[in-house]
Amino acid sequence: MFDVAIIGAGAVGAFVARDLSRYRINVVLIDKELEVSEGTTKANSAIIHAGYDCVPGTLKAKLNVQGNKMFDRICDELDVPFKRIGSLVIALSKEQLDIINELYERGRANGVPGLEVIGRERLKELEPNVNEDATGALYAKTAGIISPYELALACAENAVTNGVTLKLDTEVKDIEIKKGGFIIKTSREDIETRYIVNATGLFADVINRMLKGDEFSINPRKGEYCLFDKNDGHLVNHVLFQVPTPRGKGVLVTPTVHGNLLIGPNSVNVDIKEDVSTTGNGLEYIVNCARKTMNKFSMRDVITSFAGLRASTSGGDFIINVPVQGAVNAAAIDSPGLSSSPAISEMVVQMLKEQGLKLIEKDYYNPVRKRQIRFADMSDSEREKAIEKNPLYGRVICRCETVTEGEIVDAIKRPAGARTVDGVKRRLRAGMGRCQGGFCMPKVVEILSRELGIPYMDIVKDKKGGYLFTGRIKDNYTKGDGDANA
Ligand SMILES: Cc1cc2nc3c(=O)[nH]c(=O)nc-3n(C[C@H](O)[C@H](O)[C@H](O)COP(=O)(O)OP(=O)(O)OC[C@H]3O[C@@H](n4cnc5c(N)ncnc54)[C@H](O)[C@@H]3O)c2cc1C
Repeated sequence: MFDVAIIGAGAVGAFVARDLSRYRINVVLIDKELEVSEGTTKANSAIIHAGYDCVPGTLKAKLNVQGNKMFDRICDELDVPFKRIGSLVIALSKEQLDIINELYERGRANGVPGLEVIGRERLKELEPNVNEDATGALYAKTAGIISPYELALACAENAVTNGVTLKLDTEVKDIEIKKGGFIIKTSREDIETRYIVNATGLFADVINRMLKGDEFSINPRKGEYCLFDKNDGHLVNHVLFQVPTPRGKGVLVTPTVHGNLLIGPNSVNVDIKEDVSTTGNGLEYIVNCARKTMNKFSMRDVITSFAGLRASTSGGDFIINVPVQGAVNAAAIDSPGLSSSPAISEMVVQMLKEQGLKLIEKDYYNPVRKRQIRFADMSDSEREKAIEKNPLYGRVICRCETVTEGEIVDAIKRPAGARTVDGVKRRLRAGMGRCQGGFCMPKVVEILSRELGIPYMDIVKDKKGGYLFTGRIKDNYTKGDGDANA
C-alpha cells in the first residue's frame, strides 16, 4: 500500500513527487505514457512568467509570483538550464501603451518585483532588432526561460533517487474509493493508496469524475510554434510579447535556453485532447504576428514546428481542490502552470497534510541532482579523459548537437531513464539540431534496442504504437515482393 499516488508525471506531478520524497512515506508516480513529461509540459513557450498578466486575487496570480521566485534555487539544485533574461511586452501603437500601463498596475497588485514601463529609446537599447513601430514596453526583469521537459525529468529523477516508485506505461482506468484510501485500477495492475494527487493535465476532469468530485470540464486549447535553428537565436535578448488578448498572452518571439529562436503560439479551441498537429493556417498566423514584433528571422532557418494543448476551463483559474477526502486535484493548470508548478506543488503537499498525511522528514533526503556529463560542453582534455575511461564517448551519434554513444547509454541507465527516441532527444538533444534526427535516429534506435533488450522494430518515437519502421526490406525480398538481386 502506498501512502500517496500521484497520477500524471508532467511538471506538476513530478514536482509533487520530488517534494514528497523528502518525507518518510511511500510515494508512487504514475503516468500512462512511456516517458515522463509526455503531456503539455513537453510543448509550450518555456517561459517562467513574471506574473503581471494574471488577474489579481486569482490562484494563478499568487502561485505564478510565488513560483517564479523559486526557480533559481530549484534549477541550481536540479542542474536544469534556466536563464532569467527578462521579458518585454511591446506596444505597437499609442493605444497599446494604455494596456501596458494596466499590466504594470496589475503586476504591482500581484507583487511582481522590478517592473518598469520603458519608452521607445530604452526598448531599442535592450532590443535593437525590434520593429520600428514599437512605441514602448513593459519590462519585467524577473521573467526567465527554461527547458520545461528537462525540469520535469530532473524532478522525477531526483524523486526516484530519494525513494519514489515510478510507474510509466500505466494508465489509470478507474478509481475505487474505500474507507481510508483508494484502489487505483490501471492498465497494468491495481494500486492501493491512502492519498491521491490528480495531476493529469488535459485529463484531470476524467480523473476528477472517478474521484466523484464536483464536475468541471477541461477544454483543450491548441498553441502552435515554429522553432528556428541556432543561427537566429541571437536576434532577440529577452522574451518579446505582444499586448495580450482575452485568449492568451499573444504571439511571442524568444530565444530558447539552448540558443534557438522560438515564435508562437496561437490559441485555437480543439475537440480532441491528443490533437497536437500543426496546420498551415496556424503557422502562417504566428509568423505574420511575430513579424510585427521583429521581422529579421528567416523562414529558411525553421527546423521544426510543434503544438501544445492548454488544459483550460471556463472559470479561467487553476482548480486546486479536494474532490473527496484523501485526494487533491491540481487541475486546469494551463499557462502559467509551468511557472507556478513549484508553488502548486507546495500547495498540494500542504493540502495533503491538512487531510491527515503525516510528514516526517527523512534524514537521507538529497535535493541535489546532477545533469549527466555532456560531451559538447567538455574541453578537449576532458574529452580525451572521458574517451579513455569509456570509448563510447568517442563515437559521435548526433552530429548537429555532438551527442555521443556513451551519453545515450548513460541516459538509458539513469533513474527514470530513456525508453524512446524522443526520450533520448529530450535528455541529450540528439535529433534536435538542424537535421532533426535524419542522421542519428537509426543509430539511437539501435542503441535503445541493444541497451533495453527490445527488438529494433519495437522501439517507438514517443508513444505506444509510434513505431519508426514498418518492416525489413530483406523480409519483403524473401517474400517475393522484390528482386533480391536487384
Ligand atoms: C501552447 C502553450 C504554451 C504554454 N506556455 C507556458 C509558458 O510559457 N509558461 C508557463 O508557465 N506555462 C505555459 N504553459 C502551460 C504549461 O505548459 C502547463 O501548465 C504545464 O505544462 C502543465 O503541467 P501538468 O503537469 O499539469 O500537465 P501535463 O504536463 O500535461 O502532465 C499530465 C500528465 O498526466 C498523464 N495522464 C493523463 N491521464 C492519465 C491517466 N489516466 N493515467 C495516467 N497518466 C495520465 C499524461 O500522460 C501527462 O504526462 C503553456 C501551455 C501551452 C499548451
